[in-house]
Amino acid sequence: MTERQTLSQYKLANFLACQRRFQLRYLRRLPWPASPLSERTEQLLQQGQDFHQLLERHFLGLTIDKATIENGRVRHWWQTFQTHNPAQHFPSNARFLPETGLTVPLRNHLLYGRFDLLVIGEDEAGRPFAHLFDWKTGRPIEAAELNGRWQTRLYLALLAEGSNAFWPQAKSISPEQIRLTYWFVQEPDAPATIGYSAAAHAANWGELQQFATQLDETFALDAWPLTDDWNHCRECAYQNYCGRQAAGTATPELDEAEEPDILNEQLLTPELP
Ligand code: SF4
Repeated sequence: MTERQTLSQYKLANFLACQRRFQLRYLRRLPWPASPLSERTEQLLQQGQDFHQLLERHFLGLTIDKATIENGRVRHWWQTFQTHNPAQHFPSNARFLPETGLTVPLRNHLLYGRFDLLVIGEDEAGRPFAHLFDWKTGRPIEAAELNGRWQTRLYLALLAEGSNAFWPQAKSISPEQIRLTYWFVQEPDAPATIGYSAAAHAANWGELQQFATQLDETFALDAWPLTDDWNHCRECAYQNYCGRQAAGTATPELDEAEEPDILNEQLLTPELP
């Protein structure tokens, strides 16, 4: 029988990369990662987390005193954000909702996402809009890659299906009124904004439904095959379980590949520069 799954971007990506990894990580709950992070990586993760918390406080309306930011890199990021804040220029009716989660049903599963910042309001024509922002402290990413990422597709789909929950009258929102902006602290004047449309949502949602079907079929068979693509094994902590040590090792991309427990999901999205 299929277990009801709460599907984050990480779970989606891991299932599609390797079904055995999905089983080991989310069903058998084997520890991940197997090896400790380097000191430098730990520092970058902490700095990214601190920066996200600063922005959360800022968008909650709290005053940030730059002098209290101890870390020089984080202080510099904060100054950069103040100069280039991409979440300006919204109508006065806009509401700023930092670190906001949203869950919508996908057949007998749940889709889940947590947004760095969600801005909702009504445009000059009275149409509701929703604009997501995702803060990136690591290397900038090409627009084409961002478009194809599960983070992008999941976030846009979540808003198209569930954003009416944010309006008291449960207003429906057109996919054309949804945007997602990635802002890179290393390229602060070049945010990447991705739009959406009804046609794109129909295709995206259809693919997510197919994914749910594939997941159910895998549960029914209870067969969790190893991936044929050994490139996925290079960043995987389960090589010893699978006899894939010959794949070699690579440093995982900590932003999308790192999967905290969904009930305690961290708010950071740092990547190695
Ligand atoms: S080592 Fe390779 S086959 Fe094994 S779980 Fe990881 S990605 Fe899958």
